[in-house]
Amino acid sequence: STTPLKVAVTGAAGQIGYSLLFRLAAGALGDRPIELRLLEIEPALPSLEGVVMELDDCAFPLLAGVEIGADPAAIFSGVSVAMLVGAMPRKEGMDRADLLSANGKIFTGQGKALNDNAADDVKVLVTGNPANTNALIAMSNAPDIPNERFNALTRLDHNRAKTQLAKKLGVPVTEISQLAIWGNHDDSMYPDLFNTMVGGKSAAEQVDQAWITDEYIPTVATRGGAIIKARGASSAASAANATIDHMHDWLNGTSDWVSMSVPSDGSYGVTEGIVSSFPCTVTDGQYEIVQGIELNDFSKERIAASVARLEGERDQVKQLGLI
Ligand code: NDP
Repeated sequence: STTPLKVAVTGAAGQIGYSLLFRLAAGALGDRPIELRLLEIEPALPSLEGVVMELDDCAFPLLAGVEIGADPAAIFSGVSVAMLVGAMPRKEGMDRADLLSANGKIFTGQGKALNDNAADDVKVLVTGNPANTNALIAMSNAPDIPNERFNALTRLDHNRAKTQLAKKLGVPVTEISQLAIWGNHDDSMYPDLFNTMVGGKSAAEQVDQAWITDEYIPTVATRGGAIIKARGASSAASAANATIDHMHDWLNGTSDWVSMSVPSDGSYGVTEGIVSSFPCTVTDGQYEIVQGIELNDFSKERIAASVARLEGERDQVKQLGLI
């Protein structure tokens, strides 16, 4: 198609934005023209202007236009894709309720602005943390947009889980299929290897349970912290990459399971309505939660624990009047 895809990115002047925008403009979502709509808070707009100068200086053939601003209604006008990256970072002395409340204001406002201004086919992906609950807030404040158009990012956990397994077994990542992250994007997320295939054989039969419990899951869960320790800054390029992977697959379809945090329809006993990660496939721009997967007791227990975290967050934002 030659009509530009209108893509909004919030928090566009941040670390993740700095990786994300250049890849979007280079055609990462597909070989079609793209128009970028970049939202920032007022104080970050001068810095965002510098990023736009750099986008100009790349002379990207597919970049049909860039608009920046601090008003979500204007920026979200007519967009078919919204990547909600900007969020309030947790500051010294802030507890989880403070964080949920600060972000609640951002995501209620953005949900309403999407509801009133985005294109009818809009797909919304939340990367800003706490991503699953921020997505729930935005979704709840956008009654005219079907719930299933609100997703949150667990693809980075998925990609991390894939590479850690590939390294353990000494195979390329392309040998791995049917891997999936379940639950919340926090340290309770659960990568299920019991349904994963490596080179046509069960992954779980090629590793032992102690490795899964004591090494694999903790390594994937604490990877963000390990990166902060090593590079003195949080993961940004890989978070941008995962954001692109998720949206690319949602728009263009999948050939294998991918991990997507989506509003639960009650599948696998996951509380209906919360935004939780599931193995999904995508056809014609619509995702489906993979059905008929057998979960063992270990998996069921881990998933229930992560779902309990999501329920706790939901209860808190409900109490704050955000949903
Ligand atoms: P980043 O670009 O590094 O991160 C943005 C958000 O993504 C954070 O909430 C961060 O969570 C989250 N995130 C999700 N996965 C990851 C991951 N694997 N690694 C790192 N982060 C991850 O933050 P910056 O502070 O550089 O930039 C944020 C920008 O957002 C600022 O420019 C700010 O002005 C803007 N902002 C814009 C708003 C708007 O457009 N209305 C509203 C609020 C902020 P975590 O905090 O847990 O690391």
